[in-house]
Amino acid sequence: MRSLRELMGRPVRPAPVETDGLTPPAPSLRVRDIFTRFWPDARPFRVWLGLSLTLVVVAPLLDTATIWLFKLLIDDVLTVHSLSAFPPIAITYLAITVVLGVVEFTDDYLTAWIGESFLHRLRTRVFTHLQTLSAGFFDTRPLGDTLSRLTGDLSAIENLVLSGVTGIAAQVVKIGLFAGVLFYLSWQLTSVSLIAVPICWLTARFFSRRIKVASREVRRRGGSINAMAEESLGNTLLIQVYNRQQAEITRFTEQSRRSVTAELAATRLRAMFSPLVNLLEVAGVMVVIGMGVWELTSNRITLGGLLVFLAYLSQLYSPARGLGQLSTTVYAAAAGAERVIDLLDQQPDVRAPTHPVPLPHPHGTISLDQVGFRYPGATTDALNEISFTVEPGHSLALVGTSGAGKTTLTKLLLRLHDPSTGAVRLDGIDARDLDPHQLRATMSAVLQETLLLDGTIAENILAGRPDATQAELVTAATAADAHEFIIALPEGYDTRVGQRGRLLSGGQRQRIAIARAMIRNTPVLILDEPTTGLDTAAGERILTPLRRLMTGRTTIVISHDLATVTEVDQIIHLDHGRIIDTGTHSQLLARNGDYARLYRTHRRRPHRATEVSAPA
Ligand code: ADP
Repeated sequence: MRSLRELMGRPVRPAPVETDGLTPPAPSLRVRDIFTRFWPDARPFRVWLGLSLTLVVVAPLLDTATIWLFKLLIDDVLTVHSLSAFPPIAITYLAITVVLGVVEFTDDYLTAWIGESFLHRLRTRVFTHLQTLSAGFFDTRPLGDTLSRLTGDLSAIENLVLSGVTGIAAQVVKIGLFAGVLFYLSWQLTSVSLIAVPICWLTARFFSRRIKVASREVRRRGGSINAMAEESLGNTLLIQVYNRQQAEITRFTEQSRRSVTAELAATRLRAMFSPLVNLLEVAGVMVVIGMGVWELTSNRITLGGLLVFLAYLSQLYSPARGLGQLSTTVYAAAAGAERVIDLLDQQPDVRAPTHPVPLPHPHGTISLDQVGFRYPGATTDALNEISFTVEPGHSLALVGTSGAGKTTLTKLLLRLHDPSTGAVRLDGIDARDLDPHQLRATMSAVLQETLLLDGTIAENILAGRPDATQAELVTAATAADAHEFIIALPEGYDTRVGQRGRLLSGGQRQRIAIARAMIRNTPVLILDEPTTGLDTAAGERILTPLRRLMTGRTTIVISHDLATVTEVDQIIHLDHGRIIDTGTHSQLLARNGDYARLYRTHRRRPHRATEVSAPA
């Protein structure tokens, strides 16, 4: 039976550590730390933030003036029945409204511009960071969860760092302004009405903590849904072949239901907050009205004065309530920000040296010296005491049963991981002392899982060397035996290959990969089971272009298809991560040991590839 990995044409990721399908929690952080962490991203916008803050101050000033006009209206026009005092009040009122409109528009637009620009910066920063992480990181993290951190959780940071700051500043300004006017109108009434403020503050504190916990759960659940959907939709072939649709629907439904429960729990808290504050507010207003009537009867305040006092008071309560609500928003946003910080704190396993050794003209000598390797978290070594040298232009084959460590070895050559012991050297220089970009620029890889991007055929081949000319493109495709099938396609080189190249056959994908390696023209070539997944005819079809590609390059080829490795200069037989035999094909056969047995087993099943051909 063909392995799942082959069936899916993509590696099967080890199951992430999770409990009931839930992604692991991000470490909890204080809001202040989150803020300090992201403030540098907001720094370039500080001038605009300042302007936005100014507008935020102007708006409540204008509000204050409008309410004051009402006092004048009641005391100077309505109470004394004077029409002549009305026109200036009316004109001022209209003028203020126009100015307020302009201020609000500018503020809305400015806020959106700052917010979006900030998000853009942050998004690209996180994405850039993800690009530096080692391939191993993505093996252990559900991709869907990472995506949900890059989108939803990232937006939450904007709520915290920008809207949070301007929001709090605006509310504080309003509170100061209205409290000032209230004191001016009647300090006795004001003192009474401010009693509600500390109670509101305590209520907000009580809720914000709980809301943060609930929001963290909502974010995690959101990430889990994405992770589950990505895993399931990315494996549709497996799911359909094994009739697992219903099981997947049940799994998804369960995740979705849990997300609903978490969201409702958070909403209950948020929704409870508002009526509670309302109640406090109304109670405060009642006390003030009672006191106000008493002040009115003893002529210490006018009717207009009392009415605008109440109007200002309601203006004071609204920012106070806003401040409380904002603290809950900020805490909810913190839960998302924690998940982004968790991503940003991941360090790549493979680091570039501070002073890389230059390698201007690589010859392509590959040598391994007592290399051992253990995957992070594994209990046994994947490789042990591996030593060999391949001279420039020579070829070496790694053979052995599945799990022997062949793929791991190519990962070390490409420096996707560093060896735990020993050293991998290129032209005698330890790979760790070279700039990883330069190291990889000396190598081309044709892997069993052909990596194609969702672009045109030309784009995929040119990914090997983007500055190649059209003529070089055609030469490479011809050498890879791909030109003919490409020009037979409706749009030739401009045909799109679909996601992961799904619109092409396995053999066609592999020939594109060979063309890409041809055009890249590097001294070192790594072939990881290039014929895997192809039927016998397609497998044989790519042997000729592969031989052309290997000519003059240091080649390391992995294969369990021993027919493809008989011509190499040196064969290394791996078993359980150790070298058990080495020599040329004829030397190894003559020894009549494990290799000969492996070879005979293989020869007895010449049509292995057809026997396991993919349904596609
Ligand atoms: P081969 O290519 O010869 O089939 P591999 O190099 O893929 O073998 O695997 C060698 C060993 O390392 C196996 O025991 C495998 O289970 C283990 N292994 C491979 N990839 C990982 C990984 N990402 N994490 C932990 N162990 C791994």
